[in-house]
Amino acid sequence: MDTPRARVLVDCGLFQGEKPLRLRNWSEFPVPASSVDAVALSHAHVDHSGYLPALVRQGFRGPIYATVATRALCRIVLPDSGHLQEEDAAYANRKGFSKHAPALPLYSEADALAALECFRTVGFDEEVEIAEGVRARFTRAGHILGSASVTLSLDGSPARRLVVSGDLGRGSHPLLRDPSPPGEADVLLVESTYGDRQHPDASSLGAFARAISRTSARGGAVVIPAFAVDRTEVILLELRRLRRAGAIPDLPVFVDSPMALGALEVYRRAIAERSDEIGPGVAGDGDPFDPGHLVEAHTVAESRAINDQRFPCIIISASGMATGGRVLHHLANRLPDPRNTVILAGFQAAGTRGRRLLEGERTVKLLGRYVPVRAEIVDIPAFSVHADQSELVGWLRRAKRAPGMVYVVHGEVVAAAALRDAIERNLGWPAAVARDLEVVRLD
Ligand SMILES: [Zn+2]
Repeated sequence: MDTPRARVLVDCGLFQGEKPLRLRNWSEFPVPASSVDAVALSHAHVDHSGYLPALVRQGFRGPIYATVATRALCRIVLPDSGHLQEEDAAYANRKGFSKHAPALPLYSEADALAALECFRTVGFDEEVEIAEGVRARFTRAGHILGSASVTLSLDGSPARRLVVSGDLGRGSHPLLRDPSPPGEADVLLVESTYGDRQHPDASSLGAFARAISRTSARGGAVVIPAFAVDRTEVILLELRRLRRAGAIPDLPVFVDSPMALGALEVYRRAIAERSDEIGPGVAGDGDPFDPGHLVEAHTVAESRAINDQRFPCIIISASGMATGGRVLHHLANRLPDPRNTVILAGFQAAGTRGRRLLEGERTVKLLGRYVPVRAEIVDIPAFSVHADQSELVGWLRRAKRAPGMVYVVHGEVVAAAALRDAIERNLGWPAAVARDLEVVRLD
């Protein structure tokens, strides 16, 4: 966002998903990095934060404003992302398939650490001047720990208010308090990840318990590819609840992802410190994330040892769309056996391995070889931490007044168009799907 006096970014993420999308991470940034005065970061997910180290590498030296928990989670997520970028470049060099010799990473772990130095924390509902004539207020978005919507107030005549939803939670998060209503806006940008869908109600979680019990009864293992940040926590809480209700058997639960374990610590700390993001009634006895037999696999050796587990168990591992990470070797190991089950517990973007499993492909390529899919595949969309269409419209409806204009962003084309139609139909507000790199004047 540009004013006559300042240039501010809200979020600065990496493209994820299909290769053509990922390649866009390599195209030139739309403005010179050094011309950006400040960044307001809504939350720690890599599709919102993951380009920040590249921005710093390219000369950005301004402050990055984020909530306390977002910074804590970025300390885990960004260095890991830098490490992955370095691995990708090293792999390209070994295989000699890069056009550049030698291939360079988009950014390194050191760049990620440099980006973390730029972070400044802000409290929720507190207004701070982030650049000359630009004030930002972060309000709870209820999506993951630390997540916020951002209201930017721009000085000038006339003064303008811009609200960016960030990713919005469902208002039924088992840990987090509900999203705050949107601030007053002249222009409002709303996400649309699930803009064309309605989540089934929470009763579909019954299917989750049944899938685990069924798998256990036939002597199989359950593999759950899960996003390291938040999804792992939500799944563990649900497993604990089901176990206490006697709805699932008592099984060892492996959490096999260093990033997920790091995030788990951040969540545990927030609960212990009674952070005001955490909803009432969460604290309580013992480790809230231990369903009974929680096993944390920190090292590679501990991760490999899970392959020898021949008794029923539950393995939660990243990445959430099975695009990388330790979950790959669990899938390669467990998919060929029909006693096992893979539970897909969230959004699976087009082109990802998770989407292919969801669509019933009988063979998937994993770690360089083709693996037959004989395990049961179960989709539990109720675990989504994104609001669905009616929840997004419901959030907008809580605004004090209709914004002058709504731009629908951050969703696949069909989802964004469906949300735009729903906004026009249900609220009668003017809405448009923002085009890529579209420039809009606010005066
Ligand atoms: Zn997110």
